Amino acid sequence: MTEELNRNSTARWRDLDVRHHLNPFSDYRTLKTRDGGSRIIVRGEGVHLYDSEGQQILDGMAGLWCVNLGYGREELARSAYDQMLELPYYNSFFKTATPPTVELAEKLAELAPGDLDYVFYGSSGSESNDSVVRMARFYWQKAGKPEKSNFISRTYAYHGSTMASASLGGMKPMQQGYGLPLEGFHHVTPPYWYDFGGDLSPEEFGLQAARAVEEKILELGPETVAAFIGEPIMGAGGVLMPPESYWPEVQRICRKYDVLLVADEVICGFGRTGHMFGSERFGIEPDMMTLAKGITSGYLPLSAVMVSAHIAGKLIEQGGEFAHGYTYSGHPAACAVALANISLLEQEDLVRRTHEETGPHLKARLQELLDHPLVGEVRSEGLIGAVELVKDKQARSRWDDKSTAGQICRDHCFASNIILRAVRDTMVFSPPLIIEMSQIDQLVDGLRASLDRTAAELGRA
Ligand code: PMP
Repeated sequence: MTEELNRNSTARWRDLDVRHHLNPFSDYRTLKTRDGGSRIIVRGEGVHLYDSEGQQILDGMAGLWCVNLGYGREELARSAYDQMLELPYYNSFFKTATPPTVELAEKLAELAPGDLDYVFYGSSGSESNDSVVRMARFYWQKAGKPEKSNFISRTYAYHGSTMASASLGGMKPMQQGYGLPLEGFHHVTPPYWYDFGGDLSPEEFGLQAARAVEEKILELGPETVAAFIGEPIMGAGGVLMPPESYWPEVQRICRKYDVLLVADEVICGFGRTGHMFGSERFGIEPDMMTLAKGITSGYLPLSAVMVSAHIAGKLIEQGGEFAHGYTYSGHPAACAVALANISLLEQEDLVRRTHEETGPHLKARLQELLDHPLVGEVRSEGLIGAVELVKDKQARSRWDDKSTAGQICRDHCFASNIILRAVRDTMVFSPPLIIEMSQIDQLVDGLRASLDRTAAELGRA
């Protein structure tokens, strides 16, 4: 009887999904006519999701790189509940603030590298990157250099889906046909050694990719460039790990030309790389830093721009209204969840554990995949990683259709109840930071089984 009800519910939800729901980043013809709607996820516990058919799924992506503390954390639910009873909402406009908003600001200032002492809140990574664009331009006006308004970013970057954040991003399909990028947004080559490094060593290539930033600054004129923005490790673009030489050189170049350095830590922040922030991993001190996702482990929407004391100081000294903000900037319930989330991250020692235990275990297990005929490279840092699928390992060459192998492998993983993601022909993953060693084994073993099936399908077994 229960089974019957469940089956009915699944059919009903899928039908509603088909008839009324426009899912983000979806091909509506495929999803609504061929696939007959979406898989319905009804519950989560630890690293596992459960669908409406009762299948247990290992979530190797932590949702969308965000559920760092795993599913079903009562402490986080309770922090939202308590705050909602006390004060569910009030804004931070017009000379008001709420206790969780300012207490979280203090905590973030304490955690963030360098002099990133101030916080401007939003509800999503996209919003915070839009806030960076507005704030950087506002800052340069206040600093007496209003012509500094251009932004430089990278091909394959992902900074969000709003008009400005998608302009900062370097995803062609998000821009072509949508009137993007907006004016003033420029892109340079990403530090993707595996695809673009050719015969150079990773370190040589890292310097070359950093120099592309300098060339772009000189081409535009340093007096017109407001900021360079980059994810410490590029996530949605394929988990692209920069060579060690890259970030220090980019920082040196930004300082030389008085260009603000902005780190998009939406994925890397809060322990993902085995460091609290990716900027620490790569030894940089950005002028601004965007945070989201892991800030609440995705339990409520929240994001932040961390702003350095020298930038905020100029805005305070010069005065004039910063005409920008959101209804939910500093939402008290979301901030309360973030405080509880960070406190658990610390209590459970998850950043150190990622750095010293689970991260190294994942790295060691991934190395074993290198003997597979489809695997050209494996890379990981903490609990974010990637596996490159290639046609010819020696030549590092791909198939003609650049997303076939990845899609096939992703579908095999999904069919065996493991969620990984394919970016072109790169398999990427970022499991919850609470993942156990045995669950990492399960993830990598599951990936190998899916790689075998993919190889068979491509006639490469
Ligand atoms: N920056 C990065 C690095 C991201 O990965 C994402 C989301 N995947 C965003 C920004 C945008 O965040 P949101 O989807 O919350 O707007």
